[in-house]
Parts: sequence; C-alpha cells; structure tokens
Amino acid sequence: MSVLSTSPEEAGTSIPADPVSADAARPLGPVVMHRLAEMHAYVSALREQGLTVGLVPTMGALHAGHLSLVDALQQEVDTVIVSIFVNPTQFAPGDDYDSYPRTLDADVELLATVGVDAVFAPTPAEMYPQGELRTSILPGLPGRYFEGKTRPTHFAGALTVVNKLLNIVQPDVAAFGEKDFQQLVLVTNMVADLNLPVRILPVPIRRDTDGLALSSRNARLSETERVTALFLSKAVLAVQRQCVDGALPSEAKRVGLSLLEAQPGIEVDYLEIVEPQTFVPVADDVAGAARVILAARVGQVRLIDNAAVEIAGPSTEENA
Ligand code: AMP
Repeated sequence: MSVLSTSPEEAGTSIPADPVSADAARPLGPVVMHRLAEMHAYVSALREQGLTVGLVPTMGALHAGHLSLVDALQQEVDTVIVSIFVNPTQFAPGDDYDSYPRTLDADVELLATVGVDAVFAPTPAEMYPQGELRTSILPGLPGRYFEGKTRPTHFAGALTVVNKLLNIVQPDVAAFGEKDFQQLVLVTNMVADLNLPVRILPVPIRRDTDGLALSSRNARLSETERVTALFLSKAVLAVQRQCVDGALPSEAKRVGLSLLEAQPGIEVDYLEIVEPQTFVPVADDVAGAARVILAARVGQVRLIDNAAVEIAGPSTEENA
C-alpha cells in the first residue's frame, strides 16, 4: 500500500494547508512529515480549526503495543500524531542503536490501518542540528536507579527528546506505555516539574497471548530465545501472585528470581519490588501499592517487564 509521504528534500513544499480537507482527499494513510517546519504548519492548521492534538512518541518498529497507545489517545483527542525517531542520545556507545530495527514503510502502513492522522519521522540532523546535545534534561532521583543505573545516560537522552517532541508538536495529550514504567514516571515528573502544558496518558502493557510483553526488541530474539524470554513475564506474574497470596516482598521476589535463575540463557540485571514513585525497594514491613520491575538479557537482547502489585503487609496478632 502506498502512503502519502514527503521526503526530507521535498519537505517544506508540501505542508497541508488544511489537515481536515487534506484528510478527506487522503484515504491512503497518514501524512508523513520529516521536517520540523512541516510539523509546525500542520499543527498550526489543526489549531486554527480548534482541533485537539495527541502525540505518541515512538522509536518505530511498531507493534500492537504501540497501537494500544494510539487507540487510547483516539478516545481523547481529534487528531493523533505518531512520532518515529530512533533517538541517538538515549543510546550509549555499545548499546543497540545501530541494530535497532528501522521499518518506517511498514510502520506507516500499520498506522494507516488504525486511522492515525500524521507521522513525524525526523532525521537525527533535523532533531540535533548542532550534532550534539548542548542542553539536556536531567532526571530526578528515581531516574538514577535500575534502568538509570545500568544505562546512566539513557534517561537524560530520553527526557530531552520527549521534551523536544512535546515542544515541536505541542500536543494536548501525550500517551506513554506502562511497559517502560520508569520512563513513564520520569516523563510525568518532568511535565509536572517544568510546568509543561500537556497531559500524560498512561497506557497498560500489551502482551502477546502467551504473556510476553510486546517490544520492538522481540524481533531480534531467535525462536529458542523467544521461548526463554517468556520466563520474564512468568516471573513478574509469579511475584504478583505471591503478593496477592500475602507473601512478604522479600519472599515474593525470591520466588521470581528462582524462576529466572533456573532458566539457562537468562541473565538477570535486576528484579525488584519498588515503591512506584520513588523506585525505592519496598521493605517487608510496609503495605500498599508497589511495582515489580525486571530487566534481563536473553542472548544479546535486553528486555524489561513490570507489573503492579499490592503488598498486604506483615501479618500481626490482630490480622493474622
Ligand atoms: P518505543 O518505541 O519502544 O520507544 O515505545 C514507544 C512507546 O510505546 C513507549 O511509551 C512505550 O512504553 C510504549 N510501548 C512499547 N511497548 C508497549 C507495550 N507492549 N504495551 C504498552 N506500551 C508499549
């Protein structure tokens, strides 16, 4: 299927003056823009018509998990824009920036099937004309643990590009997946702390029928690794079940870890039950809402997963 697209060279000459009438004449798919100037003009035209705008920031290689974000946003706004940008500044040397899947044509075709209005797919040079990050957003304390510890420059890069995308598109609402739970918390904090005029819409994790959390990186798993990777969701769900059954956090965590450690081919980075705002591991004497978070390497592929858990708290004479 062909889609309307402007190449970076054409950009600036094909800005739809009126997105709604452009829509009517455009049964084929979303408008694809590569340039900031196009994006600005497109959004300005929407604003002139009083239409609300939603943004789904992605790195592409889209799957049904990303479509959940689109679907959630379509319930909230008139126009949904999906950005597709593999952001170099959130990858450290040695990370998988070069091997990260890039499938723009297939992504646009997929988005056409769900009625996405526009795609913003800038080049790195368009986003970083200086060729380097001169100014960046530093995450607060929750960004220093777990993903932030293993990948020390990751969140500064991710928050900075999200900030840039929010400034470029100026959406009313932006959707983020609970799949990247620590990122969702940090983005929510950034929006509050910097008074950004946007509402963050959290969207639950979408899983395959066998439980594996959908991820663009799953495409890099061999068949055998895909089977092994299932133990990540099994571990997370086992911890969740333990907590429902009244286990202490340390016991629940031990059950999850032993499931993973029994599997050859899994190298655990962390499995922890944390307080969901601060990311401080929960002690055995607390009760309430928490999050089990997990990162592990399966072969060359690093995967993450998480789930909400409710800690019953230690049993006492009265409630035993
Ligand atoms: P990515 O392209 O991996 O950077 O993800 C873009 C957005 O989609 C992020 O907000 C992710 O949290 C979200 N996302 C990715 N996979 C899933 C999933 N399986 N379920 C829900 N959201 C997801």
